[in-house]
Amino acid sequence: MAAWRHLLYCISLVQLRLWRAGALPGIVMVMMLAAGCAGNEIVAAAPNVATSAFTSVEDATIAATPSPIVSDTPPREIAVQPDVVVTTAVAVLTAPPTETPAEAPTVSIAALLPTPTPTATPAPVIEPTPDGVARQIRVPILMYHYLSAPPPGADIYRQDLSVPPERFAAHLDRLLAEGYTTVNLYQVLDALQRGAPLPDKPVVLTFDDGYRDNYENAFPLLKERSMQATIFVVTDFIDEERPAYLTWDMAREMLEAGVSIESHGRNHVSLAKKDDDYLVWQALGSLETIEYELGVRPRFVSYPAGEYDRRTIDIFQSAHYWGGLTTRQGATLDNQRLFELPRIRVRNTTTPDELIRLLTLDW
Ligand SMILES: [Zn+2]
Repeated sequence: MAAWRHLLYCISLVQLRLWRAGALPGIVMVMMLAAGCAGNEIVAAAPNVATSAFTSVEDATIAATPSPIVSDTPPREIAVQPDVVVTTAVAVLTAPPTETPAEAPTVSIAALLPTPTPTATPAPVIEPTPDGVARQIRVPILMYHYLSAPPPGADIYRQDLSVPPERFAAHLDRLLAEGYTTVNLYQVLDALQRGAPLPDKPVVLTFDDGYRDNYENAFPLLKERSMQATIFVVTDFIDEERPAYLTWDMAREMLEAGVSIESHGRNHVSLAKKDDDYLVWQALGSLETIEYELGVRPRFVSYPAGEYDRRTIDIFQSAHYWGGLTTRQGATLDNQRLFELPRIRVRNTTTPDELIRLLTLDW
C-alpha cells in the first residue's frame, strides 16, 4: 500500500518540478527525476518507502483507462503531459532500458492504483476562479486541538490545548444560541475569491493534529447539531497507527459525514527555513496520502506550530493547495493573503462567554 502511494508521490514530484521549471527540459528531465526519485534523500528519509514493491507496476499499467485524477488537475498543469510522465517513471523504476516504442502507450495514474473507497465527496474539486476583486471578509476560524480533559499530571501546554467535551458542547450550544452558522473552508474561499454569499455570523471550526479524541468526543457532538468542522491531520502519525491519533477509518467516517480532512504536514516538523525538496516532500507527501486514503485531495494546510515562510507558501501553492492557516490571531481574512489566514485560539480556559467575546472582537 505504501509503495503505491510512494509511486504516486514520485509521479507528482516529477510533475511539480516540471511545472516549476516550465517543462522546458522535457523528457530528459522526466527520466532523470524518475530514476532519481527512489534514491532521493527526501524519499529515503520517509518511513513508508518500499521500492521493491514496484516490480508489479508494469503489469498494472496494461489495462490503462482514462484517469479522473488527471482530468481533475487545474488547467495550468495540462502542459505537463502527465501520461508521458507516468509511462517514463514506470519504465525506469521497473525494467532495464528497452527500445522506445514509436508511440508510447497511454497510461493513466488511476490505472496504477487500486480503486479508492467511494466516499461522499463534500469538497469541490475545481478551484473557484477569482473575480479579480481584492477582498477582505470577517470570518472567525476557531482553532482547537485536544477534545478531552487533560490527563493527570499533564504539562501546561497539554492542559492549555485540551478542551473537555462538556465545555466543547457548551461552546457549540452557545454558538447556535447566538445565531452563528458553521461553514467550511471551501465556502470561505468561494466568498473570498468570488464574493459568494455566506450565512449570517459564519464561523469555521478547525482542529489541529488529528487527535483520536476529535473522533471520539467532538465528532458525535458536531453530528448531533449538524455542524461543520475541519481536521488537519499529520499523515505519518496515522500511518504509524499511533494510538493518540485518528485512524484512516475514523477519518473516512468523518469525511463521509461532511467533516473536511486537510493537511498538517507529514510529521509535524516545522515548515519554516526548509529547502524546497523538504517542503515538496511535506506538501505532496501529505496530499497524496490523504487523497489515496480518502479519495479527496486536501486543499488547505495548517502550518505545524504556526511556522512558515515565503518558501513554504510558494511550495504549497505550487502543489495546488488553495490556502494556509496560521496561528496568528485574528478574524479578518484577505484574499491577497490566502496562505496566511489568521485564526482564534480556543484554550482549556475559554468559557462560552469568552468565546463569544473573541468572536465579536474587531480584529
Ligand atoms: Zn499541530
